[in-house]
Amino acid sequence: MATDHTMMERGVRVAIEGCGHGTLHAIYASIEEACRVKGWDGVDLLIIGGDFQAVRNQHDLNVTSMPQKYRKMADFHEYYSGARTAPYLTIFIGGNHEASNHLFELYYGGWVAPNIYYLGAANVIRLGPLRIAGLTGIWKGYDYRKPHFERLPYNREETGSIYHVREIDVRKLLALRTQVDIGLSHDWPQGIEMHGDYQWLFRNKKGFGEDSRNGRLGSVAARQCLDRLRPPHWFSAHLHTKFVAILDHEEDCLSKVTETNGNSHRGPLAQDRPQVSAWQGFHAAAEVAAAKEKDDLLQQIENRKVAMAKAGASKGPQYTFEETFNEVTDDGLDRKIISTTHHQPSHDVDDAYMPISNLDGCGFSRPTKRQRLETTSDEEIIRREGSHTGIHTAGDRESRSRDTAMGASSTVIDNPDAIDIDMSDDDESVLVTNDQNPDSVSIPQIAALKSTIGGNHGSPLMSPTSSDKSEAGGVKLNQEATPFASSARLDNGAIQASPEPPTTTKDPQHASPNVVAENYIPPSPPAASDSAHTISTQSATVVPSENEVSEEMRAQLAALSSNFIQEEKLEVSPPLPFPEDIFNQKTEFLALGKCEPFQEFLQLMEIKSTTAPDEAITRPLKLSYDPEWLAIQRVFSPELQLGGNPSDKVPVNRGDTYYRDRILEEEKWIQKHIVDVGKLDVPENFSITAPVYDPSLEIGPNEMPRELTNPQTSTFCELVGIENKFDISEEEREFRMQQGPRAESAQSIAYHSRSRGGGGGGGRGRGGWRGGGGGGGRGRGGFRGGRGRGRGW
Ligand code: 5GP
Ligand code: MN
Repeated sequence: MATDHTMMERGVRVAIEGCGHGTLHAIYASIEEACRVKGWDGVDLLIIGGDFQAVRNQHDLNVTSMPQKYRKMADFHEYYSGARTAPYLTIFIGGNHEASNHLFELYYGGWVAPNIYYLGAANVIRLGPLRIAGLTGIWKGYDYRKPHFERLPYNREETGSIYHVREIDVRKLLALRTQVDIGLSHDWPQGIEMHGDYQWLFRNKKGFGEDSRNGRLGSVAARQCLDRLRPPHWFSAHLHTKFVAILDHEEDCLSKVTETNGNSHRGPLAQDRPQVSAWQGFHAAAEVAAAKEKDDLLQQIENRKVAMAKAGASKGPQYTFEETFNEVTDDGLDRKIISTTHHQPSHDVDDAYMPISNLDGCGFSRPTKRQRLETTSDEEIIRREGSHTGIHTAGDRESRSRDTAMGASSTVIDNPDAIDIDMSDDDESVLVTNDQNPDSVSIPQIAALKSTIGGNHGSPLMSPTSSDKSEAGGVKLNQEATPFASSARLDNGAIQASPEPPTTTKDPQHASPNVVAENYIPPSPPAASDSAHTISTQSATVVPSENEVSEEMRAQLAALSSNFIQEEKLEVSPPLPFPEDIFNQKTEFLALGKCEPFQEFLQLMEIKSTTAPDEAITRPLKLSYDPEWLAIQRVFSPELQLGGNPSDKVPVNRGDTYYRDRILEEEKWIQKHIVDVGKLDVPENFSITAPVYDPSLEIGPNEMPRELTNPQTSTFCELVGIENKFDISEEEREFRMQQGPRAESAQSIAYHSRSRGGGGGGGRGRGGWRGGGGGGGRGRGGFRGGRGRGRGW
């Protein structure tokens, strides 16, 4: 990377990548190549939009949400162990295919490897003059108002729900009252497609038109954050396609008011609008070229697929990447392209590039897609969707989407695409009832659903080979595997089974969660007390045996849980006007695909700061904390609930005024204890805390990782002066492992037993996920180079 120097006239050089899917080697190599073409000596930052797969070892892989056959170690473990070092500062948010146990440890954000920083469940962080906000996870309305109840050991449902966005994290982002430059979400903000070339999108991504009309495309939470934070840039991934849109917030607000007043006309659609701004003018001009480019690309892809199919699968896919550089002059108003570089290197397998595995793990998503392709011609789909788009205005669609999302109307999923998506999460909760009554989902419905799903199908064109051998280009190989910082390594002895129950367990076996529509948002809970975060089981005298928890213990825990939240009347404080310090009017939205053949997955761009436009860019840029965000963390820390039951109520939202006043108060604390004493820099305190990948270990597919306290989270909580709720005692962890995962719902058991030929899933409950040593003690010193082999991770 560049040596230290100061550049004020240009922006921060950022590489944006869509979904990671574990293909770090190829992503870094692609950036190196793109930089070479562009004449850059590197980028200041790489942003990866989720599905990162920070899988450190086989145990992590076991709790990564994807069907067993797609679980591959991929690339990340090499960066974790220190075998390779990320060549560019990399930040990422989480998606729906993650090593969720690893990300959970770093809830507030932290280094997953040297130079690779996870933003946490939600965050605002600074890089030089840029202020970047991010939201992890994907939208499922039925889990939105739940606490973070998933805590190791997970059952299958929890593995599939832990990455669903929670309102408590969005609440923090919505409490921001000043401008940010960049917003990030894995799934697209709901309705954003209507502000770009949606006709192209609906033509080329099957099922998207219908899902968009029904309000099932995109994240309601991300849209709320976009509407509130109004950053000049918003980046997303997940839908595996490149897409651009422009959201004019003022117009959007006006059209919403018009709509509320009974006029359903929302104004012109994005591509129909005149050049209402310099950027949109640029966009309109570029759109024609981009549309042609996309059509050409699509044609190319089709041709190549056919050619490859003819050549036979043995040849494997070729690795390509797409890069269109639009160098833009920007004098404030007159924005135009001054040069465009279209770069599409193509390499045979014989070259340095190797096939990149298809790691999205959507074993369930393939069949319906294939089925659809087999039964419906492309023309039919385009005709059907085209006719729909002719009928509805954007306003119609968006308002209907919101209504549906907020549970205002019953949601009927009649589109196999919905199954697609949810099955890609390995989440049977897609089963939908009109009345949101779980009991109304019958086994025949499940059977009918399954009959549309069929078995697992990988893409015939994709090799299952991991990208391990793809290339080392751009990545520093490190023979010594020198750790970034090794001093903070954990040094725990093997854990003995606790003779006593733990002191803070609050996770009794529970009834199955409801099976409801994905856009259903449970109503806001009544007021809850902040003090209800811990319960004591010290009075419990019954000692569980290895795999058993007595009925008495369960009864006690259940009783404690039902009393868990003390109902308390709280007044919700008055709303406030839109914050004056959020001044930006237009957001440029960019979504990108994943790093694999036929996808547009990478974009390099210079981003100028709107929040600190005069701040010099001194390279290399380093991450720093954001004072307003730290104050928000202090205010909301008591509202965080971990473990417990899915049905536990989350603390009530106390309203704008209350939070604003509290945040202003806490900002003074942050100023005094962090800013004034020079502690805003994010410390480079990565350490290896889990065993590194050892291919010689035989780990059963059901062996659970053990939860551990990440020292980075401890350091952060100490810095900000908040309770570290992630740091439970080893006794409690041991107890939880002994208890095993909570029982799964009847629907889940029925679903899994049917989908897997009746074997494996049914009847699984406490202890059912524990294999051999999975629940045993964590190995002291067993974190590096195969030491600790056979230990109980
Ligand atoms: P994954 O997260 O499993 O890697 O990718 C999600 C896949 O599901 C992508 O192929 C994406 O296009 C598809 N997908 C995600 N959300 C939706 C949706 O709301 N509607 C449709 N039709 N497809 C979706
Ligand atoms: Mn995804």
